[in-house]
Amino acid sequence: MADRHLSLVLHDVAPETWPDYIDFVAKVDALTRRHGPIPITWLVVPDFHHRSDCRRDDAFLEHLQHRRSMGDELALHGYYHCDDAPSPRTPRDWFMRRFYTWEGEFYALDQHEAARRLDKGIALFRSQGWPLTGFVAPAWLMSQGARQALAQRDFRYTSDSQHLYTLPDFTRIDAPGLVWSARSAWRRGLSRLVSETQRWRARQAPLLRLGLHPVDMRHASVQAYWLEVLERLILEGRQPITKYDWVARQRQREQHAA
Ligand SMILES: [Zn+2]
Repeated sequence: MADRHLSLVLHDVAPETWPDYIDFVAKVDALTRRHGPIPITWLVVPDFHHRSDCRRDDAFLEHLQHRRSMGDELALHGYYHCDDAPSPRTPRDWFMRRFYTWEGEFYALDQHEAARRLDKGIALFRSQGWPLTGFVAPAWLMSQGARQALAQRDFRYTSDSQHLYTLPDFTRIDAPGLVWSARSAWRRGLSRLVSETQRWRARQAPLLRLGLHPVDMRHASVQAYWLEVLERLILEGRQPITKYDWVARQRQREQHAA
């Protein structure tokens, strides 16, 4: 039972989506009175869909700064989040970029463009004095060029839906994640089942991640599910931790073992 953790991860954080999270985060903060600190990892999108520029919203920046001072982690989650590269040319690309998701910003970028966007994101974090160790690609998709650009920069980790990867070498660590598809009623029904099955399968995993999206927050039942799972996992003995702190602990352990 000892040494099992959970990470509460909020996706797609931007001025436009922040109102979706306000109530939920207040409820998480209320839980800390009973259960101790619950640090959150916020996946920040610097200019969500080219229409929600963090830099132009002082209240939003201040809010993130405040969360950071409370022990939360801010990580970089793409730059625009949407896939704005030229139209797909092959059936496989069409499937990935139009059917599977329209949100794979880093899926079709070459190394140069990926580097440019990463650097813009890094500059935002620097301008705010925020430490930056994590990058999560929108829809967890990255081209080979994007992976190279990422490895050449000073990040410590990236992740996909079921793994963390330490950087720069992309060493893979199992880290199962629960995530919902809350867009429609049938997806929500299915998500509950899938999520519960996943939670059961991952019961021994050292780190379990809860990946929340703004759309989840717009459905009272989904929001309630997340709060309930969060509290249940804590009561089962999982300690809340940010993704970066967990990665840093792993690294320390390996050094001790070596
Ligand atoms: Zn996202």
